[in-house]
Amino acid sequence: MSQDNRTAGEHRVVKVREVGPRDGFQNEPETIATRDKIELINALGDAGFKRIEVASFVRPDVVPQLSDGVQVLRGIDLPADVERMVLIPNSRGLENALQVRGLFEAMTLFVSASQSHNKANINRTVEETMEDVKGMGRRVVAEGVKFCAVIATSFGCPYEGKVPMDGVLDLAEQFAEAGATEIGFGDTTGMANPAYVSRFFRAAAERLPGVELTAHFHNTRGQGLANAYAALEAGCDSFESSFGELGGCPVPAGSTGNISTEDLVSMFHEMGIDTGLDLERVIEAARKAQQVLGRKLTSHSIVAGPVRWASAVAN
Ligand code: ZN
Repeated sequence: MSQDNRTAGEHRVVKVREVGPRDGFQNEPETIATRDKIELINALGDAGFKRIEVASFVRPDVVPQLSDGVQVLRGIDLPADVERMVLIPNSRGLENALQVRGLFEAMTLFVSASQSHNKANINRTVEETMEDVKGMGRRVVAEGVKFCAVIATSFGCPYEGKVPMDGVLDLAEQFAEAGATEIGFGDTTGMANPAYVSRFFRAAAERLPGVELTAHFHNTRGQGLANAYAALEAGCDSFESSFGELGGCPVPAGSTGNISTEDLVSMFHEMGIDTGLDLERVIEAARKAQQVLGRKLTSHSIVAGPVRWASAVAN
């Protein structure tokens, strides 16, 4: 590692949660076979992820792509120290999940910060949803499961435009009071910019001491990595991303693409930041996903591979 341009600054460690098996697969047009999902998730485990969003307890008629969640949870074989996360959309989903509660360590409950997106996504007002999820969150905590909250459209709404920062952080505080120990801020339709992200994460850290704050960016307009860098510089050390740049958001149409895990990890490693991940294996998993889907995925590292400094390249 002597002849490279990596930053030799202070040693820093970040956490990267792989959300492709849920956020990604959910938004792909194809329904992926259960055995393929299991194989891909196991490959992610081999790559070193300690946090993976594995499944969702949504209604099978609403999201048929994830109707095999329990089979996937039963079929995967991950190291014991991996935190398996499941997404819970409502109280029925919570009850269904609790019936198999030995199969995961963390549950995510969510709301959209904007009324219109929340209505479009789950047909409830923000206030109605918050009443529900706070009650559900207390139940999650009482069951001894880690309660994670996600606030979608934290950085902008495709229907309403500006989403006030204070309003988002008010929701985050309510989640924290209900027992959430990790709160993710989602740029659900790719409207964030690095300057705003920087202000946002500094303000969030001030208002939510002791709560883990997670950045969840989408690359809808190609600004995902710039936003991740801005969050990092503002002190954020927890990120979510999707191998192969899979995924998007169900509403509105065209809101494609979480940031690519392999591109994010490549950036962190080149900056000298430790993720605990084996980048080669992350890329391998993304290429496997490409094979399973039978079409090219859009991450950059899947094509270029990791940066190589030490080899004998001419010029
Ligand atoms: Zn997402």
